[in-house]
Amino acid sequence: MTSMRTRERLLDRLRAKGIDDERVLEAMRLVPRHLFVDEALASRSYEDIPLPIGRGQTISQPLIVAMMTQAVLRDTPSRILEIGTGCGYQTAILASLFDRVFSVERIESLLVRAQERLGSLGFSNVYFRHGDGNEGWPELAPFNAILVAAAPEKVPPMLIEQLAPEGRLVIPVGGSKGQKLMRLTRYRTGKGVQEEILDSVTFVPMLAGLR
Ligand code: SAH
Repeated sequence: MTSMRTRERLLDRLRAKGIDDERVLEAMRLVPRHLFVDEALASRSYEDIPLPIGRGQTISQPLIVAMMTQAVLRDTPSRILEIGTGCGYQTAILASLFDRVFSVERIESLLVRAQERLGSLGFSNVYFRHGDGNEGWPELAPFNAILVAAAPEKVPPMLIEQLAPEGRLVIPVGGSKGQKLMRLTRYRTGKGVQEEILDSVTFVPMLAGLR
């Protein structure tokens, strides 16, 4: 069991670490993170740490989920592409805040379980695809936002191409020598993007091919 108090403590920590968008904080308050991890780990699910979710992957640390969500969110209703569904926790946060979420995962067993969880939690605005996130989801592009939860060595060009005008791509970039969390914002006209470095981070690598 997880008490409300441990959840509130997590929110205090997110605030202390600079998360100030109330919409993001409210979504983090409402989505039950303990239902996204193995029962044996549920008691630790409101600590600000990553946890294993099977197949060598991890559920991201809550602060990172909040930071990335805050970095892609805007005021207008919109569609977001997520790469790396994993257990579906970040997906649920995004589904609370965006009109539609399109989520791509290369490991089918993780995708199927995430889909079941989100269904049982009542989310009906999420669309899943078993695919290689390096390619995005070209048939449904463009997206107002793209959030990537695994780190490629370089930003995949196909993701930049699938950004709508003024769309935001938040992505960890780099190899074993260190990764930077980047935000690329497409200009309103033309093909160019503005680049910002948001933080230093550690994500699992973005891999090619399906499993
Ligand atoms: N947001 C997820 C993060 C999981 S870890 C969560 O909190 O659970 C990153 C995920 O990205 C893993 O599930 C991994 O399988 C997936 N991934 C790695 N490379 C990928 C690729 N090329 N395409 C799609 N998913 C990928």
